[in-house]
Amino acid sequence: MAHLEPRLIKIHPDDDVAVVANDGGLKAGTAVGGVVLTGPVPQAHKVALHALAAGAPVRRYGVVIGHVREVIAAGGWVNEDNLAMPEPPGLEDLPIANAAPVDASPLAGHTFEGYRNADGSVGTRNILGITTTVQCVAGVVDHAVARIKAELLPRYGNVDDVVALEHTYGCGVAIDAPAAAIPIETVRNIARNPNFAGSTMVVSLGCEKMQPSRLFPEMFAPGITAAGEGDIVTLQDERHGGFEAMIASIMETAERHLRDLDRRRRVTCPASDLMVGLQCGGSDALSGITANPALGYAADLLVRAGATVLFSEVTEVRDGIAQLTRRAATPQVAADLVREMAWYDDYLAQGMVDRSANTTPGNKKGGLSNIVEKAMGSIVKSGSMPIAGVVPPGQRAREKGLLFAATPASDFICGTLQLAAGMNVHVFTTGRGTPYGLAEVPVIKVATRTDLARRWHDLMDVDAGRIVSAGVGIEEMGWEMFRLILAVASGRKTAAERLRLCNSLALFNPGPVT
Ligand code: CA
Repeated sequence: MAHLEPRLIKIHPDDDVAVVANDGGLKAGTAVGGVVLTGPVPQAHKVALHALAAGAPVRRYGVVIGHVREVIAAGGWVNEDNLAMPEPPGLEDLPIANAAPVDASPLAGHTFEGYRNADGSVGTRNILGITTTVQCVAGVVDHAVARIKAELLPRYGNVDDVVALEHTYGCGVAIDAPAAAIPIETVRNIARNPNFAGSTMVVSLGCEKMQPSRLFPEMFAPGITAAGEGDIVTLQDERHGGFEAMIASIMETAERHLRDLDRRRRVTCPASDLMVGLQCGGSDALSGITANPALGYAADLLVRAGATVLFSEVTEVRDGIAQLTRRAATPQVAADLVREMAWYDDYLAQGMVDRSANTTPGNKKGGLSNIVEKAMGSIVKSGSMPIAGVVPPGQRAREKGLLFAATPASDFICGTLQLAAGMNVHVFTTGRGTPYGLAEVPVIKVATRTDLARRWHDLMDVDAGRIVSAGVGIEEMGWEMFRLILAVASGRKTAAERLRLCNSLALFNPGPVT
């Protein structure tokens, strides 16, 4: 806040830089943290705490985030222009499953009100999800959903929403390529997200490559009534004489599902039924000081309460791989982590780029000089618990506890893959600000800076900037987030839900398009 004394935040005793805490940044000549600023430095940006010679390593979070290109005086601004990025850490000879034990004592007695499903999973919303097998049907499905919402939904008061699960996959792709398994599994597993109650309804065109039988073989198993009847609407079906007939079929099928969903009621469930997906987007250098450490504390509480927590974004943990393999619960989990990192290194190399392709102009404006610095701030949202498992992209989470869901850092692709993993609450931290939301699960948005939380007062759910602006402790903020997650899981609407803001699903398709 403007009236506060000039202040720098240093994370680790070995650090060569500290970041400006003050909203609006600090002016040239400001005496702060034992140095005098040689020029103006924006909020969240780094200040050299002592003179740095050309080639000298620069430490933040106690790790080398880069080397100085040309000499920087004490009090100088350290940014992406004067900092060269180090080589990525190797994937061999990593420390394996040898982290010091942390306080993992069980946290009992925390509950939420959720919708229990036949498969044991628990929904936090009661939604009719309409799976689509191909983009061709999207226009018809959008039209049908608008009519379902206007004409049917008001009659089924216990159903929260009707959501078309649309995507650009399904045809014009090499459907038998090994990499096609990722988008196919993703569509299949999103249909099984707990918020859809296992109630699968499909709209297919008819001639597409991703046939309903490929997507949901169980619907075509022997003993099940004729394929295409019941839960699958095929637009090319001969009974459809024109557009209105297609809409009527979709609405009729939807109404049957709405009737079932309407009978569901919230029941008291232990916090262990939560699967919370963590993500960040539009990050800044305060992300790693305010929102992400507090979220890490909340993640520890969730794991101690028996819940599942997913953290993701491969390029944003790649530089911290040694921290992760050390925290792996078993050597197998460490090997799984390394396998996912190696796959992604190779994927990036095929595109002739590396992890440095991750940082955005906004990240840099927010004081993050490169992916190493961004990664160190991103990883802290995973907290301190042992990593109990790894979820490959598109697959469902099987274990409880803290899991690494291997996804790209792209906000939409990461969110889509976490939906497939089975997430029922999403927590998203942002420094620059994003109106991100999903129609399928509630998204809690956490601002890293009070300035952002104030300007975007109706878009943000939590102001974690109070850790800097009001001296709120990380633990206190972590507990606040933990309680908010339980309240939102029980039905409290998030800012994005109130404004009905939602992004499109975005499938991860590393396979060829034909
Ligand atoms: Ca992201």
